[in-house]
Amino acid sequence: SENGGIKPDFNKFPDKLVPVIVQDALTNKVLMLGYMDEAAYNKTIVEEKVTFFSRSKQRLWTKGETSGNFLLVKEILQDCDNDCLLVKANPVGPVCHTGADTCFNETNEGSFLQQLEKIIQSRKETRQEGSYVNSLFKKGINKIAQKVGEEAVEVVIEAKDDNEGLFKNEAADLLFHYLILLNAKGMRLNDIIKVLEARHAAGPNSLPENEGA
Ligand code: AMP
Ligand code: ZN
Ligand code: ZN
Ligand code: ZN
Repeated sequence: SENGGIKPDFNKFPDKLVPVIVQDALTNKVLMLGYMDEAAYNKTIVEEKVTFFSRSKQRLWTKGETSGNFLLVKEILQDCDNDCLLVKANPVGPVCHTGADTCFNETNEGSFLQQLEKIIQSRKETRQEGSYVNSLFKKGINKIAQKVGEEAVEVVIEAKDDNEGLFKNEAADLLFHYLILLNAKGMRLNDIIKVLEARHAAGPNSLPENEGA
């Protein structure tokens, strides 16, 4: 990691705590805000993992110390008038204690799909009797993948028609079964969103050759 050789003058800050904005080095999303005292800053530089001074715990807090969801430091920058820091980091896992990707981006659509992912996971874990989702997991991944194919074909068929209600229903079926397939592959929707974000960040030339058309 790099820090531009800058170290804040901690004595100039209230309680000698510098506000620190953490940004995802890959997606540029704002992940969270915390505070560092000099010891937290030094530990962050040495270990290349973000450590704050937690005002609620009143001690050094390495983000991820219990969850394992560390923030791996890529770069540390100061703002124009030296009154806060920006840490560009690569998160090992969800940053927010709610399980969300960031402490800021809980959109309604995002959060319902996240809820649905959790419900799907729990139907699988508890092997819930009479659950359609569980019955699909019991049939195995090939069957689940086949269902995604069928629902995709139904979307194609309804796209040719002009029945809005039918199209929406088939589009919903496709998204639902897609989430189940991702779960069966041990993935979350977020893993796929990250691929799209990385392509976006890399620019138009990063599109896979045969899918760019
Ligand atoms: P962690 O540092 O991820 O192991 O989480 C340890 C504890 O810190 C959690 O139980 C929460 O109380 C708190 N915590 C974790 N992430 C955040 C966050 N993004 N913002 C505020 N508090 C957090
Ligand atoms: Zn400033
Ligand atoms: Zn949070
Ligand atoms: Zn359908």
